[in-house]
Amino acid sequence: MIVKRFEILKEREQGTPALLYPDASSRKGDAAPAGLHLVEPATRLRIAETFTSRQGEGRLTGIPSFFVRTSGCNLRCWFCDTPYASWNPEGERFSIDSLVEQAVNARLPASTETDSQAALHGDSASVHTTTSPVRHVVLTGGEPLIAAGFSELATALRDAGMHVTVETAGTVDVEFPSDLLSLSPKLRASTPDAAQHPKWSQLHERRRMPVHTMRNLISRSPAVQVKFVVDSADEFDEILRVVDDLQVPANDVWIMPQGITVEQLDAAADWLTPWAEQNGFQYCDRMQIRWYGNRRGT
Ligand code: SF4
Repeated sequence: MIVKRFEILKEREQGTPALLYPDASSRKGDAAPAGLHLVEPATRLRIAETFTSRQGEGRLTGIPSFFVRTSGCNLRCWFCDTPYASWNPEGERFSIDSLVEQAVNARLPASTETDSQAALHGDSASVHTTTSPVRHVVLTGGEPLIAAGFSELATALRDAGMHVTVETAGTVDVEFPSDLLSLSPKLRASTPDAAQHPKWSQLHERRRMPVHTMRNLISRSPAVQVKFVVDSADEFDEILRVVDDLQVPANDVWIMPQGITVEQLDAAADWLTPWAEQNGFQYCDRMQIRWYGNRRGT
């Protein structure tokens, strides 16, 4: 058990420079293994950003949500659209109490309600009122599961009555409470260039697809959606294999185009939507890009 915990710690060390204990009990009993630097109490998490917006992906698309983006990732996808939480992690440390307080007091900003792109696309989510309390929290990253104190944060948010979605690449087997596991396995094509990033290319490839770990996460979650970001039709066979390995129903699988502009999303929809439908998968546009463009805090 302790060995397993230290393996997770080692992963955290290589995923984020600030290493934390995974839970309070481990701080009391276990000595730190050589080479590990324990610098913060587990109740303060490094956060790249928090913001209130509408969920742009998956089955809760359009739902006003408070997003907590932890900083640090144990992978390095070449296309990562949140490099400030992975390639170049940044952010301040927040206590669990302060994050819960922000979540329960969150309101959808007026700017997200009057967005002309949403109106143009006839999206019904744009009619949410600005004064409605936000009841959904999305814990995302980076990779939230490597953030020490993560389980305690998820527990505190649910105790405060929030619906908690956890967005993860599913590479670390830790226990946490949630209402929805949003699992995004990283396909082979996500690996960064070996010549440019030799260390991260190796680590990424070794870590990205632990099927047993993903199945454990799925088995402990009350509801699951599995999302794939697809760059080309060359990835279709791999997706089908992973879905088979994970043993999730096709209806819980969401296919999303890789792209950060509306033009890229539109171009991908032409070849990706028919394939998704043919396999019984959900096609999931990345609505936050259509609504707000590719920018932080949305
Ligand atoms: S797993 Fe997510 S946060 Fe980490 S590098 Fe890949 S896309 Fe970025």
